[in-house]
Order: sequence, then C-alpha cells, then structure tokens
Amino acid sequence: MDTMLVAHWYAPEEVKEIADYVGDSLGLIQAVQKEQPKRLVFAGVRFMSETAKVMLPDTEIIQPDFESTCSLVTQTNIDELKKFRDDNQDSTHVMYINSSVEMKVLADIIVTSANVNAIVENEIKNGNKVIFSPDKNMGTYINKEFGYDMKVFTSVCEVHDQFNVEYLKQEMRSWTDGIKYVIAHPESPIDLLEMADFIGSTNKMLEWVKNFPNKVGTIWVATEGGLINDMKKARPELDIRPALGYNGCQCNQCPYMKRNTLEAVNAAMAGTGGTSIDYLTNDLIDAARKPIERMLNYTIE
Ligand code: SF4
Repeated sequence: MDTMLVAHWYAPEEVKEIADYVGDSLGLIQAVQKEQPKRLVFAGVRFMSETAKVMLPDTEIIQPDFESTCSLVTQTNIDELKKFRDDNQDSTHVMYINSSVEMKVLADIIVTSANVNAIVENEIKNGNKVIFSPDKNMGTYINKEFGYDMKVFTSVCEVHDQFNVEYLKQEMRSWTDGIKYVIAHPESPIDLLEMADFIGSTNKMLEWVKNFPNKVGTIWVATEGGLINDMKKARPELDIRPALGYNGCQCNQCPYMKRNTLEAVNAAMAGTGGTSIDYLTNDLIDAARKPIERMLNYTIE
C-alpha cells in the first residue's frame, strides 16, 4: 500500500468511513506496523502520528491538521514531569500513550487504556514500585480498583474530565424504563468510574455494547461522541446516550480530533495539505521507541 489512511474512533464520521483502518491507540500502532506503508495519513491527534513515526521512521507520516494536540500533552509541563521521574528513581515510570515524544523518553514503559491494568499489575507482581503519568484519572482509578499506591501525575483529558456524576445520576433517576447501564473510559473522573458497570478502552467498550445480551436497555456512555456513533450503528435497537458534563452539557466532542476534517484529510492524501512528521531527531526517536517496544512485547489479548 502506497498511502494508508488510518483514523481513531474519535475522528469525524466521514473520515472514518474512508479510512483503511479505524481503531484505538494500540490497534492503530499494530495496524500500521503490520502494513508498513510508504506513506501514512494519520487522522488522530499529533501524539499518535509521532508515535507512528517512532515505530516507522522510514515512512512519510502526515498529520492532516498539525494543531490537533491533546490536553494530556498541553497540560504536562516537561520540567515537572522530569522532576516527577527524578524524584522517584526507584520506581518504574509507566506512561499512558497519550503523551508527546519528549514525554515518552522519560518513561520506562508505555501503556494504552487496553493494556494498562495488565502491565501495571505485572510490574507490581514483580516487586517493582510504580509511578504513573500523565493521566490523573486513569492512575487514580487503577490505584482504587486494585489497591495500589502508585504516585500519579496531574494532567487530565479535558473531554473525559468534564463528565459529571451528579448530572448523570439525576438523568438516570428520571428514567423509569427498563435496564440501565453506565459504561466509561478510564480517563473519566473517579466518582463516575465508581458507579460504572463496565470500564474499558474504546475498543473494549465497543465490544461490550456489541455483545450486550438484551434487546432493550439504556446505556449511558462516558467517552467521546465519535465512539457512541459506532455503538449506535452496531446496536441500533438499544438506547445509547452520552453521559452528561457540567451543567448537563452533552459536550463530549474532542476539539482536537475533530480538526482532522474530511477536507484536511483529502488534502493530506493528495499531497496538497497536512504537515509531515519529519521534525523528530533520530536520538529522540530511538529513545522513545524503547518504552513503546517494551509495551508491544507484552503478550496481551
Ligand atoms: S479525547 Fe482527551 S485524551 Fe483523547 S485526544 Fe482528545 S483531549 Fe486527548
């Protein structure tokens, strides 16, 4: 394949429709590694394109809209992250993949929301102390769920962090019909995660909905709206609703993912637009590859 187009679940619908592969962070890395395209247009946010460049340095990788960053990157001060790492040199630094290349070189191992539980558990079973960055909500959830005491960095996803448990409970109380469920991505606030019936990565949440055993039911979903569209397509007979944000707002759209419009993607595919991820030095690429490869070497379903 000369030019491959991949899209994250949160990309605009019309972009997902024309993509060669749609998936979550882990699936996207695995798909591009398998295909080894000469040229890759990545309809995700910039840290995803950079991660692809680290794994495929000889591939020309184009970000349709270079401003499509992520709050987990922009909220993270690199000097504070270095201090977090340096103050805890006796610990394994586990870092969520939602991080820039400059952040990743400070990690011992990268995780995605699909494999974070297993990888942290494995480190702790091996007797290692663990620190976690950059997502405060995900780290806090893992600590609570499994009884760990990892030190956790302080950045949040500005989309998931706005889900509000009180508004959600209020809406659920007013619902008198049928079975009610809440499913959530682990970037959501801890009080919402505590009431969720299922917590998982985007792929796992979609699988959960596809395999939902009943023909009726209302499911509130705490994640970005793009994935909810795929859930509705998979199970149109179910009532699938977005969880609510502050002031009851159904504002679950990632402004960064949505910058990769069909127009921007088409221009990137045609070679008339987008930005080449050609600014990473070889030293940075080599250093960032190590913690990513450590993750990929784990044998996890
Ligand atoms: S949804 Fe959140 S974590 Fe994902 S790209 Fe957007 S801001 Fe970043």
